[in-house]
Amino acid sequence: MARYTGSVCRLCRREGAKLFLKGSRCYTKKCAFERRPTPPGQHGVRRRKVGDFGLQLREKQKVRRVYGVLERQFRGYFDIAEQRPGVTGESLLRYLELRLDNVVYRLGFASSRAQARQLVGHGHFAVNGVPTNIPSFQLKPGDRVEVRDSRRPREPFKLAKETLRSHQPPEWLSLDAAKLSGAVAELPRRDQMPLDLNEQLVVEYYSR
Ligand code: SF4
Repeated sequence: MARYTGSVCRLCRREGAKLFLKGSRCYTKKCAFERRPTPPGQHGVRRRKVGDFGLQLREKQKVRRVYGVLERQFRGYFDIAEQRPGVTGESLLRYLELRLDNVVYRLGFASSRAQARQLVGHGHFAVNGVPTNIPSFQLKPGDRVEVRDSRRPREPFKLAKETLRSHQPPEWLSLDAAKLSGAVAELPRRDQMPLDLNEQLVVEYYSR
C-alpha cells in the first residue's frame, strides 16, 4: 500500500493553498503555509508565468493530494469516471469522496484523511459488519461504517463519542455518535463536495 511519506506542509506550499492535510494543526498559527506561503525550494519566491498546462497540472496535483491518492490510482479513478455516464469531473470527485478513508474522515472519526487512512489500515472499522482495512474501499448508498466492537475501548475512540456529538457530517452521510457508526445516505452531489476544487481542469489535463 504505497503512500506519500514526505512533508505534507510542503505540498500546501507547492499548490499555493491550504489543503488541510494535518488535522487540527492546520487551524492554528503553526500552519506552515500561514508562515511561508511561497513554493518550497530556494527558487520558490521567484515569480513565474503559468500557462494553461501549468494550471491544469497544478489542479490535478491539488485534487490528488487533498485525497491522498498516488498518480496511478488517481488516473485509474479518472478512467473509470470517463466511462461512466454523467459529468466526468463530478464522477471523479464522487469516487474520491466515497473512498472508505474519506468517509471515515467526513464522519469525524479522524482529524485528517491521513489519520483516517491509518485507522482504516489498522483494521478499526467494519463496513456492513465486515472488518475492512482497505482505505480505497468504495462505498455506496446504504453502506454502514462503524468502529468494530473490539476496537471501541482503544485510545482514538475513547473521546470520539464526545467530540462526535458536535460534529456535523455532510448531508449525504448520517452519523450515530453514540454507536460510533455512520452510513452513506445518498450519493454526494457536486454542491456537497469541496467547492474549491476545479475538476474541469483535471479533465482537461488528462484529455490533452
Ligand atoms: Fe497545509 Fe495543514 Fe501544513 Fe498548513 S498545517 S501547511 S494547512 S498541511
